[in-house]
Amino acid sequence: MSTQPFIPPEAGEQPAHQVIPPVELTTPVEHAAPQAVAAGRPMGPTNRPMPIFPEPAARESHGPARIISMCNQKGGVGKTTTTINLGAALAEYGRKVLLVDFDPQGSLSVGLGVNPYDIDKSVYNLLMERGTALDDVVLKTNIPGLELLPSNIDLSAAEVQLVTEVAREQVLARALAPAVADYDFVIIDCQPSLGLLTVNALTASDGVIVPLECEFFALRGVAMLVETIQKVQDRLNPELEIDGLVATMYDSRTVHSREVLARLVEAFEDKVFHTAISRTVRFPETTVAGEPITTFATSSGGAYSYRQLAREVLARCPGT
Ligand code: ADP
Ligand code: MG
Repeated sequence: MSTQPFIPPEAGEQPAHQVIPPVELTTPVEHAAPQAVAAGRPMGPTNRPMPIFPEPAARESHGPARIISMCNQKGGVGKTTTTINLGAALAEYGRKVLLVDFDPQGSLSVGLGVNPYDIDKSVYNLLMERGTALDDVVLKTNIPGLELLPSNIDLSAAEVQLVTEVAREQVLARALAPAVADYDFVIIDCQPSLGLLTVNALTASDGVIVPLECEFFALRGVAMLVETIQKVQDRLNPELEIDGLVATMYDSRTVHSREVLARLVEAFEDKVFHTAISRTVRFPETTVAGEPITTFATSSGGAYSYRQLAREVLARCPGT
């Protein structure tokens, strides 16, 4: 799969949207150690005072959903792991969550115990066939409140077939429209590319979460991702926001991990989640088990971190 960003066409075919201001990337960090001490809060992994994220209030009813793309064109950074475990943690807090496997590799489906070759209908059918409705494709998982729109290799054909569609960037947005009333969160696990499928995900979304591994190389690709997000904001989806960047594979014992996090906060400030996900072998184990860490190892550090990330997401996104 090409790593070149897919550039949506210029206005003409597209409705003209007002240009929204670009994301600020260069303002220096101001929330450093002295403030932490003053506030009496311990320092978190991002070297900022760790706020307390309250236990989320229960919900009496569901919807409208916030649609979030889990996006980074680099593979192996924790997109799928974060989709599953953030989704499961939000479901534990009583939210109704739909996870969308939008990677032809089907890793999200596998991670939830679904064999991509056994499924009847996948997100491909939903995108490409007029007669297929959301309910025909959605699967329940073993986690109450957590549902899955599975995918498999068929989806790679959609990337090619969509090119000739009318309003090809909006196909997923239309397909997911009926979900907004029923769920509190829809989280789309993107494939590692900035191609047409990812542009569809961004066009369908209210927010983007960017998982990044704690490696210097991780920072390289982010500028290109932000550029793509800005193009989608300008041309297709002016409401799109970056909900946050989350550091994964964090190792508190290494200076390297801490330095990468410091750089990330320098560049993206408050967009960086206070929660960082530590590197632990428990995550690969959960993939084999086909379930989230929140149920597989319910009192592990990894489960705790994703619950905290869920509370942070709920605190950041009003109305969720
Ligand atoms: P992506 O979807 O971005 O390609 P994955 O979520 O599939 O990334 O993660 C890639 C690999 O790294 C998987 O084997 C996964 O189990 C593992 N992994 C993810 N997060 C962690 C973590 N915090 N610690 C250790 N391994 C992890
Ligand atoms: Mg993945």
